Amino acid sequence: MPVYRDAGFELYDAKTTADAFRKESEHSREPDLYIYSRYRNPTVVSAEEEIMKLEGSEWALLTQSGMSAIDTALSVFQHGKETGPWLFFTEIYGGTISFIESVLKSRRGLDIQYFTPDNGNYDLDMFEKALSDLKPEFVYIETVSNPMLIVADVACIAGIAKKHGVKVIVDNTFATPWLYKPLSDGADIVIHSATKYFSGHGNITAGVLCGNDVKIMKAAIEYRKFVGHTLSPDDAYRLQTQVQTFELRFSRQCSNAFKLAEYLDSIPLIRKVLYPGLKNHPTNLIAEKLFNNKGFGAMITFDLDGRDLAEKRIRRDKFIEQVSEKIKLIPTLGDPHTILMPVDAVWGAKYPEPGMIRLSVGFEEYSELEGTISRALEMIKG
Ligand code: PLP
Repeated sequence: MPVYRDAGFELYDAKTTADAFRKESEHSREPDLYIYSRYRNPTVVSAEEEIMKLEGSEWALLTQSGMSAIDTALSVFQHGKETGPWLFFTEIYGGTISFIESVLKSRRGLDIQYFTPDNGNYDLDMFEKALSDLKPEFVYIETVSNPMLIVADVACIAGIAKKHGVKVIVDNTFATPWLYKPLSDGADIVIHSATKYFSGHGNITAGVLCGNDVKIMKAAIEYRKFVGHTLSPDDAYRLQTQVQTFELRFSRQCSNAFKLAEYLDSIPLIRKVLYPGLKNHPTNLIAEKLFNNKGFGAMITFDLDGRDLAEKRIRRDKFIEQVSEKIKLIPTLGDPHTILMPVDAVWGAKYPEPGMIRLSVGFEEYSELEGTISRALEMIKG
């Protein structure tokens, strides 16, 4: 597929123009005639078809970021004063929470409700009660949460939601379709920050929403067109190229992460390792069931021990410095190399543990990765 950089496409005569605009207003997945790249672009549609294959969906719509995919998905359900309530699980990406608070609540005045996990796990009886009490239009969850890596039993959650006539929106960025496809368990919309594993090289900002319901697709195409969230053809082209190696990259990232989590869990200097593949993780059984033992993702959060908060913080800072040549502090995830983030610096009061570090495990040689980390751990002991 060439890169069609045209902002507008030649329509030749008035009749073709009228036909093109009439058909465009039907918001079909693949237009017969392209009009304007903010509406639809052939390179973008081609990249969308690649994502449809991965997620096993009837449609996929690419957007300029994960956040614009989220905005598009949610706005489908906004219909003036009659809207809401909308129910969000609390363990979701901080940027999504900020969007909810400052855009959906403060600016749009929407009725937003939250559902909180209990002891690192989602209590599904409480969830069902919340649905009966609130009667929300949809529930919004992440398959694997950030940074605690809580795995939601999306299959059960979707089953309960369906029983109550509630739509289900799943941010599947951390799990990816390689581990799990929420649409097959009844989710209505699946979202990805394609900035992460789909592009996989830390060089594209993009998002995608996928689904099977044509009514939702048409509303999403219309909204994306009006607000201008459509991905650029250049980024779509690069994404289509890079997504071809997604499974190779991600499977290797998962296997590196599994080995590294077991290694970190064996180190006395580390107080706690959060990784859904470890038996001691509160959602290990759900992860085993949902991911069919294919892997457990490539994110690990661990907490360095110390006599007090000050020692933990010093050790954390030294660790970051010691590994910095090989493992950079970069605030994203899904890159080729392992990268890290200090948790308290990002999440503040929500997760204030000063020894806590989140790793996005890369697909580099495993022994090299473990070597870098074990040498750093040796250095910070004293
Ligand atoms: N969803 C999750 C789970 C994320 O981690 C992120 C970003 O980190 C987003 C959505 C937003 O994606 P983007 O940064 O591409 O807008």
